[in-house]
Parts: sequence; C-alpha cells; structure tokens
Amino acid sequence: LLVTIEGGEGAGKTTQSGLLADALAGRGFDVLRTREPGGAPGAEALRRFLLAGDHRLSRRAEAMAHYAARFDHVDNTIRPALAAGRMVLCDRYADSTLAYQGYGLAQGEPDVLAFIARLDALLDVRPHLTLVLDVARAEGLHRLRQRGGDADRYETLDDAFHERVAAGYRSIAKAHPVRCRLIPAGGAVETVHRRMLEAVLAAVPP
Ligand code: C5P
Ligand code: MG
Repeated sequence: LLVTIEGGEGAGKTTQSGLLADALAGRGFDVLRTREPGGAPGAEALRRFLLAGDHRLSRRAEAMAHYAARFDHVDNTIRPALAAGRMVLCDRYADSTLAYQGYGLAQGEPDVLAFIARLDALLDVRPHLTLVLDVARAEGLHRLRQRGGDADRYETLDDAFHERVAAGYRSIAKAHPVRCRLIPAGGAVETVHRRMLEAVLAAVPP
C-alpha cells in the first residue's frame, strides 16, 4: 500500500507522517517512511539542486526534474518496498508537482498543466490513498516561522503563490475523490493524527 501525504508549507506533513508511521508500526504494519523530493541517493542530490534557489530551469524543465527525482525514488525505494509487501508512507509525491509547479509557479497555465499530465502518465506507481492536509495560509506561515531554520526557495515565495498551491491541492482532492482525503489540518496535532490514522486503516485491505 502506498500512502502519500500532501499539503502546503507548514501544514504539518513531517510531524504527522512521523506520528502516522509510529502508530501504524505499533499496529504491526511494516512501514517505510520516505519523502520527496528525495528518498533515494540520486533523488536527494536532485533535491539539493532543486531547492538551492540558484537554478534557472524553465517551468517545464523544473517539472521534469521533479519527475526525474520521482522516477529515481520509485525505482530504488518505493517499488522494492511495495514488492516486499511493506506499507510506504511518502511525504509528498506527484500531486506536489501539479500543485507547486503547475498551479503555484505556472499559475495554472493550461500548457504547463498538460505537460505535467503527460509526465504523470509515465508514472507506473500510484498512491492508493492520498491525505491532503489543508491549513489556512496564516496558520501555515505561523508554523513555518516557529520551526525556524533556513527557508528553501519555494518557502520564501509570496502569499499569492502559497494560496494558489493550497487552492490547487483542493481542486486535486476534488478531482480524485476516491484516492484523496482532504483533512482539515488547522486543529490540534492529536485530532489531525486521529483523522489520518482512521483514513489509512479504512484503506487497508482486511
Ligand atoms: O515538504 P518539504 O518542505 O520538505 O519540501 C521541500 C520543498 O520543495 C517545499 O518547500 C516545497 O515547496 C518544494 N517542492 C516543490 N515542488 C515539488 C515538491 C516540493 O516546489 N514538486
Ligand atoms: Mg517545506
């Protein structure tokens, strides 16, 4: 089972995927927790390049570089884990490219959305369940500031960008109602955790 966790900045993906992995492991599942961009040595090298902030890739090239990292991650980490019968929990996956490069950076430009859809059609490993953490922008910003540390190139983009990403995620969730669960993530950590755990347990074949 491949479960992906999506959402904008400060939505709590990292905290929640850790709690979810622990809770599932405690119930006896063999869980692999991984993340994107990254999750394999080559993909992590691409992550450093993509997040450094000094690259000059065109929009389509940037989307393609995220997919290059994704294929590396699938080939070296995700597919082998699924083949071994493990449950894979991935912090970000293909929906991030549509939300960030498609809706965020390209502002939903039809050519770029269509290009990303063509890249996505090449992907042969798809999530069974996607938990989309939905948080108001102000709350997300607040959490991001509390976390501190250096912001990457995307985190420093303006509010309108992050609003487009959040709206993009909502429309992705709406377009894929069977695969996606939109989880209100503004509340207490424990409440969000419970909602996520319930959604995963409901998706596990008996
Ligand atoms: O989730 P995390 O903060 O580790 O993601 C790293 C950064 O990569 C985020 O700031 C996110 O905005 C960005 N990203 C992106 N496009 C993707 C995936 C991640 O811009 N397809
Ligand atoms: Mg981030």
